Amino acid sequence: MKAGILGGGQLGRMLLQAAINYPVETYVLENDPACPAAHLCHHFVLGDIRDFDAVYNFGKELDVITIEIEAVNVDALEKLESEGVKVYPKPSAIRVINNKILQKEFYYSHGIPSPEFVTTQNAEGLKDYLNFLPAVHKLASGGYDGRGVQMLVTEKDLDKAFDGPAVLEKRVNIKQEIAIIVAMNDKGETAIYPPAEMLFDPLLNQLDFQISPALVPDKVLWKAEAFALKVIMQLNSPGLFAVEMFVDNNDEVWVNETAPRVHNSGHHTIEGNYSSQFDMLWRVLLHYPLGHTDAIQSSAIVNVVGAEGHKGLAHYEGLNEVLKLDNVFVHLYGKKETKPGRKMGHVTILSNDRQELIHQANRIKHVLKVVAKGG
Ligand code: ADP
Repeated sequence: MKAGILGGGQLGRMLLQAAINYPVETYVLENDPACPAAHLCHHFVLGDIRDFDAVYNFGKELDVITIEIEAVNVDALEKLESEGVKVYPKPSAIRVINNKILQKEFYYSHGIPSPEFVTTQNAEGLKDYLNFLPAVHKLASGGYDGRGVQMLVTEKDLDKAFDGPAVLEKRVNIKQEIAIIVAMNDKGETAIYPPAEMLFDPLLNQLDFQISPALVPDKVLWKAEAFALKVIMQLNSPGLFAVEMFVDNNDEVWVNETAPRVHNSGHHTIEGNYSSQFDMLWRVLLHYPLGHTDAIQSSAIVNVVGAEGHKGLAHYEGLNEVLKLDNVFVHLYGKKETKPGRKMGHVTILSNDRQELIHQANRIKHVLKVVAKGG
């Protein structure tokens, strides 16, 4: 089988790490020849994943295509699909997910609980919805990593609103943020992972670390699993998806958003679960039986990001100390240059003792730093 990946970042890199266990010839399309996945595939193709011709020409000789980022040329994927190339996730699913307005309408029309919303076309249009505040304004498309999201608490915040098509979503009183990874094969069989829980730094409002399985009551777990499965069944697409959800103070569960690909919230599955999210996606792409999703042990993930004030050739401070820990697994993404906040790697910690996970995660966050060499 010839399999192509659109995008060559760390997700593509880890997908290729899992591919070496299978009889598959791998292709990557990406416009940065020094990207994290470039040297790990059989065939690296230089090109823009947003360009119709680049994607179409890349895909037309392949058996199956997947994505590691959703900002891709969906028209080209649709044409390839119509010509018999398997595209997992389906272009129709990527199209819904790529536009927050369509995504929210999708949840509503399928009875999947998601925070109440209205759509706005420009900043001016928000004046009609003052009684909807406090709310979160989210750009319909183009937002990424929190950049297309703005909290609007009172009328005074309206100058921060986006001046383009967006959704205005009621603010949820969030108790916990969780994510569930689900996979579906082309026979419609599904596999579901235990939820991961994101723990935020209340001061920085940044993702601090992540623990899986999430500590939630059974009632919350059942609802979250049901919603995650419903999302993937209604998207009606083979592939692997991450469904991000909020648990509110009344233990109600709300779907926030879905990613149609391997996801940061599933990196712990490499060591923590029998079949990792990357292994699972290959099983779907190559028509093998779905893998076993149970956790072997509980796990935590610490994201390794570029330190503030450091830009230049990446240097990893404290790496030796972290590598001495016996229940800890370091993943560096092979990015030459660091800059503040850039995702440079992650560290997985395994332990069935939650306190130990939290303790080690905090320790690693303090010890391991990505700085610029000489800087
Ligand atoms: P992105 O796709 O850029 O990560 P999200 O939609 O996930 O954007 O929102 C980023 C963060 O903003 C969420 O993780 C959550 O903490 C907060 N947030 C988003 N929507 C809401 C909401 N309706 N109520 C409260 N907080 C929200």
